[in-house]
Amino acid sequence: MGGGGHGLATAYYLATEYGIRDVAVVERGPIGLGNVGRNTTIIRSNYFLPDNIRFYEFSLKLWEGLERRLNFNAMVSQRGTLNLFHTEAQRDLMTRRANQMRLLGVDAEAVSRDEVRSLVPLVDLDNGRYPVLGGFLQPRGGTVRHDAVAWGYARGASEAGVDIIEHCEVTGLRREGARITGVETTRGPIAAEIVCLAVAGHSSVLAAMAGLTLPIESHVLQAFVTEGIKPVLDVVLTYGAGHFYVSQSDKGGLVFGGAIDGYNTYGQRGTLPMAEEVAASAVTLLPGVARLKILRQWGGVMDMTMDGSPIISRTPLAGLIFNGGWCYGGFKAIPAGGMTTAHLIARGEAHPVATHLDLARFAAGRTCDERGIGPYPYLH
Ligand SMILES: Cc1cc2nc3c(=O)[nH]c(=O)nc-3n(C[C@H](O)[C@H](O)[C@H](O)COP(=O)(O)OP(=O)(O)OC[C@H]3O[C@@H](n4cnc5c(N)ncnc54)[C@H](O)[C@@H]3O)c2cc1C
Repeated sequence: MGGGGHGLATAYYLATEYGIRDVAVVERGPIGLGNVGRNTTIIRSNYFLPDNIRFYEFSLKLWEGLERRLNFNAMVSQRGTLNLFHTEAQRDLMTRRANQMRLLGVDAEAVSRDEVRSLVPLVDLDNGRYPVLGGFLQPRGGTVRHDAVAWGYARGASEAGVDIIEHCEVTGLRREGARITGVETTRGPIAAEIVCLAVAGHSSVLAAMAGLTLPIESHVLQAFVTEGIKPVLDVVLTYGAGHFYVSQSDKGGLVFGGAIDGYNTYGQRGTLPMAEEVAASAVTLLPGVARLKILRQWGGVMDMTMDGSPIISRTPLAGLIFNGGWCYGGFKAIPAGGMTTAHLIARGEAHPVATHLDLARFAAGRTCDERGIGPYPYLH
């Protein structure tokens, strides 16, 4: 269920990696119009928890070979992701993160203030609110053309024998006792040995159809793009004193976003206070941006978990597999999410890099709280 990045990638890897071709992807609209086509396209593996670093690094390695494998130009651009810090405490935290990554063989570099100046001359290092002290660079991070990811996986899956059924909304799950046996859709019922839920922001809605409550809340996250200008920014830049990240697209627009709006919703628009907060961060860090016009603004529905990490897992119902809880970091995870979900379906056991992402962790109290802030989705 769900023709977004994770649903399509799971189907693709089931067919091409695990030889299971009797697969249908059912999507309520056209493929790719969910979050896979709404995100700010950033890929990276600069996490802190070792299990998360391994998972996202597995994904980054798959991105590195993806275009060749799919024979599709997804414009994978490893231009580097640069996180800035503004206090000594942040320097400590980022140094720990960089060290953790390097211990696991992942690229991470400390960047001095002068190097920040030469990498991103646009940054106001001495801005009045939060002067920049330095940064932390993952050179292999970057961006990928998001729609192309949906199209590339869809074409690859379709060529390998997968049926992709658009305009087919799942309206119910068929259940015999504690086993799921198929789905009800707007185009009729489909019987299935295994049903996989990969509907991102609508995970709770679909899980409720099966009588399950997930440790997930839905929130809206906004993104913005400016008018196109000549090249001014060739890294992905993240502000450390607020939640703000920005990159320049190949068309020249600055693509940026911030944090979730912070209230539960399935709306895809967002509110003005968060737009103002993001704009304030933008002009603090890059004053020149104040002269640009915003061309478009939109929102997407985030499936926020209670620990900020995703879920790839069996469920209490036999035959129902869950891929979700991507919060606002699930785009970069699409290759790994697809591969590990396909592994779980095909082999009946978790892929070695995704064993920590099981649903049972919440009841067992072994959450993967990347930011260490507890069960508060709006803080993740
Ligand atoms: C503004 C914004 C910026 C983001 N920036 C980044 C970023 O820079 N980097 C990053 O890693 N992540 C980012 N994300 C998060 C990322 O986009 C998501 O975590 C990820 O795309 C979710 O997985 P998906 O692609 O499978 O979801 P989706 O594309 O949303 O796929 C789910 C699909 O399920 C379908 N569906 C829902 N209900 C039903 C039903 N009843 N029947 C059938 N189909 C159904 C939907 O129509 C949809 O197509 C961002 C998200 C947003 C909104």
